[in-house]
Amino acid sequence: MEPFVSIVIPAYNEEESLPPLLEKLDRVLNTLKQPAEVIVVDDGSRDRTPEILREATKRYPWLRAFILRRNFGQSAALTCGIEQARGKVIVTLDADLQNDPEDIPRLLEKIEEGYDVVSGWRKDRKDPFLSRKLPSRIANWLIGKITGVKIHDYGCTLKAYRREVIQGIPIYGELHRFIPVLTDFRGARITEIPVRHHPRRFGKSKYGISRTYRVLLDLFLMFFFQRFATRPLHFFGLVGLTLFLAGFLIEVYLSVLKLVYHQSIGQRPLLLLGALLIITGVNLLGTGLLAELLVRTYYEGSGRKIYTIRESLP
Ligand code: UDP
Ligand code: MG
Repeated sequence: MEPFVSIVIPAYNEEESLPPLLEKLDRVLNTLKQPAEVIVVDDGSRDRTPEILREATKRYPWLRAFILRRNFGQSAALTCGIEQARGKVIVTLDADLQNDPEDIPRLLEKIEEGYDVVSGWRKDRKDPFLSRKLPSRIANWLIGKITGVKIHDYGCTLKAYRREVIQGIPIYGELHRFIPVLTDFRGARITEIPVRHHPRRFGKSKYGISRTYRVLLDLFLMFFFQRFATRPLHFFGLVGLTLFLAGFLIEVYLSVLKLVYHQSIGQRPLLLLGALLIITGVNLLGTGLLAELLVRTYYEGSGRKIYTIRESLP
């Protein structure tokens, strides 16, 4: 029977968490109205995670597992699971027992109400305040401000998606945190519900505070994508033209001083500034043109569309 729900779980060195997680999932799946499958992607673990999965697939008929050849990162592992998913709805979940599978039925209810994305919100989050909760609160606020996708908890993996809005989205690098934004590009209807959260019982978090700057860079990328993915020249062109014009005016001014008033301008810092602005401006315009070529190759070469259809009538 085709599963309706695919639960995708990336796992990296989670040998202790997996067995209790799978047991809990078994109980939850029995309560679901629709048929479900669970896809665990072992992200090149160095502990017994692959062996545990091998045993578990014999025991649980709803379980499928993929063992990656090396540690590719959470985003890649999620992408693998999402690509393999057969369900109409895809639920993502962490392997570390911090998310609670018992929240899954509530996520599914929201999907049935017509939403494309239901985001879990760890309202009562059980993580250290200074190193995790505070930075994450700032990040969530900033991401909401800049992208306009206002949900409380980007970092919570427990989320549900209608397959059309998530399958085929390339989640490069560490963009798994931005999946709601990426689906928003496609016009997804997004909502959120509070979900339970537990402290990490086994193993340790794979991330530290160092991810802050990566989140900032990714946020800039999202800002750019959201507005300029199909018209990069407008972005580079605006900045480039502004700089070029400023430089041009400076040099015109200096030329007048030189030619009309016969002043010496060779020693003036302004001369250098003007020249730099012109060069930078021209460079940015060139970058914009190159980016336009790239965008065209990207869409035309891959057959991707620059729009998405929600329904076709009749
Ligand atoms: N994970 C993974 N590959 C990695 C790092 C993490 O598949 O390179 C998995 C990990 O096993 C867990 C999830 O991604 O299921 C989230 O990782 P973690 O709990 O360490 O992150 P945190 O919850 O602390 O943000
Ligand atoms: Mg975790």
